[in-house]
Amino acid sequence: MARTHAEWKQLAAELKIEGRAFINGAYTASADGRTFECINPANGQKLADIAWAGEADVEAAVRAARAAFDSGKWSDLAPLARGKILKRFAALIREHGDELALLETLDVGKPIGDTTSVDVPGAAYCVEWFAEAIDKIGGEVAPVDPKLVGLVTREAIGVVAAVVPWNFPILMASWKFGPALAAGNAVIVKPSEKSPLTAIRIAQLAKEAGIPDGIFQVLPGAGDVGKALSLHMDIDCLAFTGSTGVGKLIAGYAAQSNLKRVWLELGGKSPNIVLEDCADIAKAARTAAGGIFYNMGEMCTAGSRVLVHRKVKEQFLAEFKKAADGWYPGEPLDPATSMGAIVDKIQYDKVLSYIDKGVSEGASLICGGKATHTDKGLFIEPTALDCQRADMTTCKEEIFGPVLSVITFDDVEEAIRIANDTEYGLAAAVWTANVTTAHQVSRRLRAGTVWVNCYDEGGDMNFPFGGFKQSGNGRDKSLHALEKYTELKSTLIKL
Ligand code: NAP
Ligand code: MG
Repeated sequence: MARTHAEWKQLAAELKIEGRAFINGAYTASADGRTFECINPANGQKLADIAWAGEADVEAAVRAARAAFDSGKWSDLAPLARGKILKRFAALIREHGDELALLETLDVGKPIGDTTSVDVPGAAYCVEWFAEAIDKIGGEVAPVDPKLVGLVTREAIGVVAAVVPWNFPILMASWKFGPALAAGNAVIVKPSEKSPLTAIRIAQLAKEAGIPDGIFQVLPGAGDVGKALSLHMDIDCLAFTGSTGVGKLIAGYAAQSNLKRVWLELGGKSPNIVLEDCADIAKAARTAAGGIFYNMGEMCTAGSRVLVHRKVKEQFLAEFKKAADGWYPGEPLDPATSMGAIVDKIQYDKVLSYIDKGVSEGASLICGGKATHTDKGLFIEPTALDCQRADMTTCKEEIFGPVLSVITFDDVEEAIRIANDTEYGLAAAVWTANVTTAHQVSRRLRAGTVWVNCYDEGGDMNFPFGGFKQSGNGRDKSLHALEKYTELKSTLIKL
């Protein structure tokens, strides 16, 4: 049964929060005793002191991961057996769904309606999906000389570090550890300092499910922990989701150390194109509002640039303004809230400064533009800017907040040119009633995902997710994700 706002507040008041790292099967304070504060962005209150992993903790975790991997107690299990344990892990995540959703909402300000329906069930689904897949895929027998048998197999890489962001903490982590564990690796998760709580909590559930000590570990801390993992000589693979800037640093760290495999899911500035022949402008406008305001706009795939044909612009903006009203921010623990708090003061100031910058460069406000305070919380109105030119700052840079830039165009060629004129290539969308136009435009959009007459659809795990250009490399989700966490081995047997 759905809980009320009062019930969630009561549960929050009773919650016991674990803040220690999880190393070699046990919760552990950092070796040097250092901690940092975890703050609820909806009211500024401290939630917990969190262990800040230092060099000694990184060493201990990597050593435990290596020993656990080399022992074969996980990698040498039959895939079916590994899958069974992972399914138990997924079931435990579901069983503790309310607690995990509450932790996530308190930690980062997401609406409880989202964490209970998307983030936590999505993470359980991901783990379960890879658990079910892993005993259903096999290698190849290569068509080599008949005097030989040529086997092509995939084996676990070894020790995988997952450095993940704060916008979907448990979900983005699961997109890494789900396939990495299924493939037989040992995984060390480094959550963002802005969002450590769910990763820390599920470590205990992983152990309860039967995942051996050292195979699933969590090292909270700031960027220095991610850096230490990226530079480590005994980590085989670094799976990263975060900003393009940090992604570049991580690629450099791998080059400076052991050339570990690096997989990068990075930022975006995704175009959402409304063509003149769009069949349902009101729906396009409603969907565009969801595309930028869902999760406070803290979305790598946010449809942060709407490109709209001049002839339908007026109608589109009228519908968009109506839709934006439905995204007015509210208390994250209230199930009626659609938009919650901005994750922290740094991000909040950054978003507000982008709005100022847009206005100072000549954009006019279509809606929003201001902060809305409740109880020291960090809330920003759903905001849209009518931009005179496609090269204005808010049209170029990833804001990662509830701020849309609207750009007007006169023909399809111009729309495609503007859409592709970005360093990013994560997602794009096009609205048209013409199936030929839909195919032609989507082929020419340089993006990892293209939506036609929708946005952000496709929660299915069987659909790959990742970027072109500086939005990264490799793909999360789908069987393709397993490619990131396995090495291809060719074995030739002379008969
Ligand atoms: P971020 O600042 O790049 O941080 C991501 C992770 O890297 C965090 O755990 C962070 O730790 C860590 N980190 C920071 N500095 C590091 C360093 N020098 N070496 C190694 N690790 C380091 O990104 P964010 O602000 O958390 O997340 C927002 C970004 O993620 C946006 O650009 C968004 O588009 C992108 N994103 C992409 C996808 C995708 O799938 N493509 C999905 C979600 C988000 P601390 O936070 O503790 O400093
Ligand atoms: Mg927090």
